[in-house]
Amino acid sequence: MKSIRHVIGGVETDSADGGTFEDVDPYTQEAYATVALGGAREADEAVKAARKAFDDGPWPRMSFEERGKLLHRLADLMDEHTDELALADTRDMGKPITAAKSKDVPRSALNFRFFADHARLSESQHLPSATGHHTYVQHAPAGVVAAIAPWNYPLMLETWKVAPALAWGNTVVLKPAEDTPHSAYLLAKLALEAGIPDGVFNVVHGFGPGSAGEALTVNPAVDRITFTGESGTGKAIARAASANLTPVSFELGGKGCNLVFDDADLDSAVQWAVEAAFGNAGQVCLAGSRLYVQQGVHDEFVERFAQAATALRLGDPKDPATRMGPLASEEHYRKVTGYLDGEATGHAKVLGGGAAPGWFVRPAIVLDPPAHSPVLREEIFGPVVTVTPFATEDEAVKLANDTPYGLSAMLFTENLHRAHRVAGSLNSGNVWVNCFFVRDLRAPFGGFGASGIGREGGAHSKEFFTEARTVTMRIATA
Ligand code: NAD
Repeated sequence: MKSIRHVIGGVETDSADGGTFEDVDPYTQEAYATVALGGAREADEAVKAARKAFDDGPWPRMSFEERGKLLHRLADLMDEHTDELALADTRDMGKPITAAKSKDVPRSALNFRFFADHARLSESQHLPSATGHHTYVQHAPAGVVAAIAPWNYPLMLETWKVAPALAWGNTVVLKPAEDTPHSAYLLAKLALEAGIPDGVFNVVHGFGPGSAGEALTVNPAVDRITFTGESGTGKAIARAASANLTPVSFELGGKGCNLVFDDADLDSAVQWAVEAAFGNAGQVCLAGSRLYVQQGVHDEFVERFAQAATALRLGDPKDPATRMGPLASEEHYRKVTGYLDGEATGHAKVLGGGAAPGWFVRPAIVLDPPAHSPVLREEIFGPVVTVTPFATEDEAVKLANDTPYGLSAMLFTENLHRAHRVAGSLNSGNVWVNCFFVRDLRAPFGGFGASGIGREGGAHSKEFFTEARTVTMRIATA
C-alpha cells in the first residue's frame, strides 16, 4: 500500500494523531494507498510554514527571472514524470490514461511555463502627468494563498491555481480533493526537487467541513482563497472567509448549454457534442449537458449523436483504448444514477444510459424533459445529457439562459452573423463557437451567476494574486 503524506515546510509528514484515510481506485473499488488525514492542526502548520517562507524567505524577493527559472524546471520535471503523474490521477478518479497523459499532464506543466513567462513579461501602469507628478503601479505578491481543489481534473486545476500564485511571488497551501490526493503529493515532491524553497509550496490532505479545508478558510494568516468546486461549497467558504475579509476567487458549478442550429456542420456538431457531454465521463464543470437542437436537424442530430455516444468505449481507465472510465467514487455514482429515475427525468424518454457493472454509467440522452425537471435544472456531473428542440434563435437564447449557472456555452452554426449575435446574448463566462474546450491561458476564465466569483487567467490571475500599490511622486520642476 502506498503512503500519501502532507508536505509542509519542505518536509513529508504524517498527521500529528497518525490519522489516515483510504485512497480508493474507482476501477478496482479497492484502496491502493493510505492518505494522511489532516485537520485544523496540519492546516495551521502548513499556513505557518507558508507564512514564514513569505515573510522571511527569498521567494517573494526573487526576480521574475529567478522564480521563472525554478518554475520552468518544475515543468520540465513534470514532463519527465508524465507517466507517474497521469497514473496518479487515473487511479484516483478513473480518468482514461490516454487523456491524462496527452491532455492533463502537458497542460499542467504548461500552466507553470505560461504563468512564469506571463509574470516576467507583464507590464504595469505608468501615468506621467504635466502637473509635475508621476504615478506608477506596483504589483506586490498578496502573501499566503490557500488553494482548494476539486477531483475532476486534479493536477490540471491545482496547477491552474498554484502556478500563477507562485509566479507572482506568493507562497501556497494546496488542499487537493479527498478523492484525488496523489498527484498533488507527487507535485510537491517535484517542486522540492526543482529547487523551490521549503515552505513555498505546501500540500495538506483532508476533507472540507470540520477538516483541513475549512481550517484553511478561517485562518487569519491566509491572504487569498482560490477555490474550485460546487456552488454550495462556495457559499460555505464565502461565509468562512468573510470573518477575516479574505479575498476569494471561485470557479464553481455549471450546467452548460450547447445550441445546434439548422445550418450547423452536423459532422462537427455531433463530434463536439459527444466530447462536451461525455468527455471525462461528463465530470466536467464546462460540460455541454443541455443540448438545444433546432427543429430542422433535430431528428437527424439525435440519431447520429446517440450512435456516436453508444460507440464510446467503456473500460479499464489504464487501458489506452478506453474513452470512458468509471465515475470517480461510489458516492458520486449513486448521485449520478439517481438522475436517471423517472422523478428526476420527468418521465422523459431516455436513450441508452444507465448503470453498468462497477461504478460505470453508460452515456444517457434524455429527450425533451419537462422544463422544471431536476435533470434539466441541476448539475449532474456525469454522462447524462438532455436534448430539447427549439424553433427560433430567440427561443434558443431564452432556453439557454434559463439557469442560475453561467460557466460555459457552445453553439454550432455556419452563419457568421448569428454566431456573433448569439454569443453576445448568452449569460456565460465562456462561449465556444463551432468548437469546445479550446483555452487561451491569457483569457479570463470564470462564470456568471452561480458559476463563480471573479476571473482567473493571464492578467486576471495577476490581479487576484497581487496587491496593487499606486506610487505617486512629485517631480520638482526646477
Ligand atoms: P466540492 O465543492 O465538493 O469540493 C471541492 C473541494 O472543496 C474539495 O477539496 C473539498 O474537500 C473542499 N471543501 C468542501 N467543503 C469545504 C468547506 N466547507 N471548506 C473548505 N473546503 C471545502 O466539489 P467537488 O465535488 O470536488 O468538485 C465538483 C464540483 O466542482 C462541480 O460542481 C464542478 O462544476 C465544480 N468545478 C468547477 C470548475 C470551474 O472551473 N468552474 C472546474 C472543475 C469543477
